Amino acid sequence: DLVADLRAARRRFSVEFSPAHDEATAERQWRAVERLQALRPVFASVTYGAGGGDRAGSVELATRLVRETDVRPLAHLTAVGQSTAELADVLDELVAGGVRDVLALRGDPDGDPRAPWEPHPEGLQHADQLVRLALQRGAGTVGVAAFPLGHPESPDLDTDLRHLLGKVAAGARFAIAQLTFDVEDFLRLRDRLAAAGSDLPVLPGLLPVTSPRVLEVTRRLTDGHEPSWLHRRLDPFLDDRGAFREEGMQVAVEDGRRLLAEGVEVLHLYSLNAASNVEALVTELGLAGPEGAPDGAPDGAGGAG
Ligand code: FAD
Repeated sequence: DLVADLRAARRRFSVEFSPAHDEATAERQWRAVERLQALRPVFASVTYGAGGGDRAGSVELATRLVRETDVRPLAHLTAVGQSTAELADVLDELVAGGVRDVLALRGDPDGDPRAPWEPHPEGLQHADQLVRLALQRGAGTVGVAAFPLGHPESPDLDTDLRHLLGKVAAGARFAIAQLTFDVEDFLRLRDRLAAAGSDLPVLPGLLPVTSPRVLEVTRRLTDGHEPSWLHRRLDPFLDDRGAFREEGMQVAVEDGRRLLAEGVEVLHLYSLNAASNVEALVTELGLAGPEGAPDGAPDGAGGAG
C-alpha cells in the first residue's frame, strides 16, 4: 500500500517523469529511470499531458515501469478533453497494465493554466470526481494535488482547503504539493491541514533551479510569488551556467534540509527526465532507500501510523 509506505518512510523520495516526445529523450529518460531505480524511490510518477500521443506515452511509460523495473509507478491522470467513459478506459488500461496508483487531477484547458476551465460535455468538473472514478475502476491508492499558495482559481485559502478536504472525502489518501520557491509556503499548508484535523500525507516538490530555463518553468507555476532572496542568490550567475547550476543546486539542498528538519518524511523530486540532479540531491540529503521491499520491514523498522 502506497500510503503505508509513505508513512513508514523507509524510502524517502519519489521522482517525477514526463512522457518523452522523441526517441533521444525517451532513451535518455530510460537511462535515468535505470539509474534512479538503484536509489530506491518510493514511487516514480508519470505526468499526463494534453493530446493523444502524449496521453498514450504516459500510459506506456507507467506500464513499462511495471514490466521492466521494480519501481512503483504513480500515473497522473487529468479530466481535460475526455468524457467520463474515455477516462474509465484509460483507468482500465492502467490497472490492466499493473499500475495500481493514480494521481487524480482536473488539469488545465489544453495545458494553458490561464484559460478558463471548460469541462468536457460528458466529462468531469473537478478532481474529486476523478478520485471516485479511479477507485471505482480498481485503482489502489489515489492521490491529489495540493496548493501551498492556494489554487489560482480559489478565492481564498479556506475555500482551497475545503476543496482539498473534499478530495480526501472522495477517497484521496495523499497529496503532492505544487512547487513553491519558499519552504515556508509548504509548511503553512501542512499547518492548515493539521488545524483542520487532517493527517493527510503531503509530499513537497523539490526542483533544483539549475538554469535560467528551469527558473522560468518554476515562475510559471508560482504565479509571480518569487522571493527576492532567490534573485539575490541566482542573478549574479546569469552569465555563468556552471556557477548558476551550482548555486541552484545549493538552494535545493538547503530547502531539502529544512523540510527534513521540519519532520517531512518523503520529498518529491522533479527529474526533468535526467538523473544527475536527482542523484545529487538524494546523495546530499541522504535519501537513498535501504535494500529490500519498501514496507516489508520484517525487522519492524517502519510502520508508523
Ligand atoms: P481541482 O481539485 O478540481 O481544483 C481546481 C479548482 O477548483 C480549485 O480552485 C479548487 O479549489 C476548485 N474545486 C475543487 N473541487 C471543487 C468542488 N467540488 N466544487 C467547487 N470547486 C472545487 N496537469 C496536467 O495536465 N498533467 C499533470 O500530470 C499534472 N500533474 C500535476 C501534479 C501536481 C503535484 C500538481 C500540483 C499539479 C499538476 N497538474 C498537472 C496541474 C493541475 O492539473 C492544475 O493545477 C489544475 O488547474 C488543478 O488541478 P486539481 O486536480 O487541483 O483540480
